[in-house]
Amino acid sequence: VQVNYADILISAVRPEQYPDEGLPEIALAGRSNVGKSSFINTMINRKKLARTSSKPGKTRTLNFFNINHDFLFVDVPGYGYAKVSKSEREKWSQMMEDYFSAREELSLVVQIVDFRHEPTELDIQMYEYLKYFDLPVLIVATKADKIKKSRYNKHLSQLKKALNVDDEDHIVIYSSHTLDGKEEAWSIMLDYIRN
Ligand code: GDP
Repeated sequence: VQVNYADILISAVRPEQYPDEGLPEIALAGRSNVGKSSFINTMINRKKLARTSSKPGKTRTLNFFNINHDFLFVDVPGYGYAKVSKSEREKWSQMMEDYFSAREELSLVVQIVDFRHEPTELDIQMYEYLKYFDLPVLIVATKADKIKKSRYNKHLSQLKKALNVDDEDHIVIYSSHTLDGKEEAWSIMLDYIRN
């Protein structure tokens, strides 16, 4: 896939602020530091489009990126910062629920996990949350370059088991360093955008 155009469209918190072009959306969720911006940037061949606002203390917004005027990537702020106040957490939950429960344009959620380690409690909760809203999920298991190929199957089955992955969902083993998994991830995403 050739990406000729990629730019931030808007950072939104409330539904009134969401774009209204009607383009299909692919949301990206993942624990902070899991490799989400690297995934986005390598998928679209940009160095730092998604230098996200997901750093602690920064405003936590949904960042909508227009990709080729074909679809939008929606970068969801990374979950799992220890030092967030209760009121901030509540704002975050409200924002997530507003978006995931009712967004018509949402076609697929990409949940990024770290292929090196078993999913955390937060990864498990996130996946359950997405399935509660009946959303199709592509799990991207990234940092695969850190794992020997001979260990892939073991890590893969642990991942499937821990998340209790739905038969209809997809898992792609990915590396932002080697770009392994990139074509496969695109082909799955395109299926959802075009349906
Ligand atoms: P984010 O907070 O989820 O957006 O994570 P980043 O994309 O900023 O990545 C966090 C750290 O993991 C950075 O130091 C990246 O260089 C590193 N990283 C991201 N993807 C990969 C990968 O596929 N392989 C390896 N080895 N490191 C990665």
